[in-house]
Amino acid sequence: MLTAAGAATIPAMSTAFYTHSDCQRHDMGDGHPECPQRLAAIQDHLRATGLDMALQWRDAPLVSREALMRAHSARHVEEVSAVLQELSVTGQSRALDPDTAACPHTGAAVARAAGAAVAATDAVIDGEVDNAFCAVRPPGHHATRDEVMGFCFFNNVAVAARHALDVRGLQRVAIIDFDVHHGNGTEDIVAGDERILMCSFFQHPLYPYSGAVPSAANLLNLPVAPYTRGPAIRELIEQHWIPRLDAFAPEMLFISAGFDAHREDGLAQMGLVEADYAWITERLMAVAQRHCAGRVVSCLEGGYHLGALARSVASHVRVLAGV
Ligand SMILES: [Zn+2]
Repeated sequence: MLTAAGAATIPAMSTAFYTHSDCQRHDMGDGHPECPQRLAAIQDHLRATGLDMALQWRDAPLVSREALMRAHSARHVEEVSAVLQELSVTGQSRALDPDTAACPHTGAAVARAAGAAVAATDAVIDGEVDNAFCAVRPPGHHATRDEVMGFCFFNNVAVAARHALDVRGLQRVAIIDFDVHHGNGTEDIVAGDERILMCSFFQHPLYPYSGAVPSAANLLNLPVAPYTRGPAIRELIEQHWIPRLDAFAPEMLFISAGFDAHREDGLAQMGLVEADYAWITERLMAVAQRHCAGRVVSCLEGGYHLGALARSVASHVRVLAGV
């Protein structure tokens, strides 16, 4: 597409925006940074900017146990599901990990969060939409095959990637994780699965203090020092992620989209800004255009400064939608 001035522009894409009110009812207690207001802030900002009009809003469906068990052990799925079901009946809350608590509404939220990722994958593969963003919580990338960890119960992105491979018949997919924390759960699940290339950067040292040495050849981990800013991250992505992604030639991209590397975020000490998230998304969209017919599914992970989160998601989604 050309503008009147002749400059190339990104054509508008059809972008699905999956979310559900159940995801705002999961509450880990006063003062917890992974709070229900995160999703409200994102949606308010999309409406305030008019970006909501460019998106196809869809209700996140509930995930199936079969889908969860493509990324998690049957024991993990059964145990977590049983606890969350019990809490929904008793009306009580319980800590499942030092950082991770469940309330009576958590069961519905985790089922919608993973369900959104799977439904978005189907919608993109079926060509209903070009790409999708899942504004869901709880996040997923710290949930390992067997453990609840770091605000995460089930690994939404890993569940979706395995759905694309095992159910929809794709041969190769890439998972890109730009959350400021190492996606240890995703690494635990996909390490050694040569159908998946996982590319990430993360502040190191920082929770969960893993990832400096990747555990398998299909993982491209870039640990970066605190106070690293956008220009250095962009250079790392150009030098490391892009050539590896081009060589792997994935058929679909999954993004673990955490926005806690933002300079205003209090849980880490990195210096990204909204323009960096737009740039990263543009580079990934270009990879998707070259190899994947544009197929991208992005799922919210971290991001705890409400204003910075909302503005960064808008920057990301604006590029996905090409508006
Ligand atoms: Zn994070």
